[in-house]
Amino acid sequence: MKEKIELLQGDITTMDVDAIVNAANNSLLGGGGVDGAIHRTAGPDLLKECRTLGGCDTGDAKITGGYLLKARHVIHTVGPIYRGGTSREPELLKSCYRRCFEVAHENKLKTIAFPSISTGAYGYPIALASEIAVKTALEQLKRFPAIERVYFVLFSNKDLEVYRRTVATG
Ligand code: ADP
Repeated sequence: MKEKIELLQGDITTMDVDAIVNAANNSLLGGGGVDGAIHRTAGPDLLKECRTLGGCDTGDAKITGGYLLKARHVIHTVGPIYRGGTSREPELLKSCYRRCFEVAHENKLKTIAFPSISTGAYGYPIALASEIAVKTALEQLKRFPAIERVYFVLFSNKDLEVYRRTVATG
């Protein structure tokens, strides 16, 4: 399944895929980081649709249209805030990735691009987060063979190197 995973450095808002994943907050009403970038590129109609969703629990995921993005959809997920690792953070981060795949499958999506969920403002150490991201993606690709391609789009070269190492050793 590793051949279905591609690591890229860049801006996720430029991705031409069935869905990009947004590392959102519980309100789904916009924020900083990748969330801000996605809303800026998608335009105000994305926020309009998000207002109808009633927020999102940590570890869950909800889908919207992609509006002015190249991506056809946005899957909004809410990662855990890292509080040292003993507040169910690994389980909740894993749940984010799993729920995104489930939502992608329910909507018959074939290509999906993830940012590094929780490793910005939410403070999850990227080496630990990348292990969960890659391991869960491999599990879910086995579960949903119709999903053809998964991209991890890392904002910095340093983050890309961390993910490369995780894929190589995992
Ligand atoms: P969280 O609150 O889940 O930590 P952030 O948006 O603060 O979410 O950070 C998640 C990751 O997304 C970080 O690694 C950050 O560098 C990265 N990021 C920020 N903007 C973009 C973008 N346009 N494309 C891809 N990744 C981005």
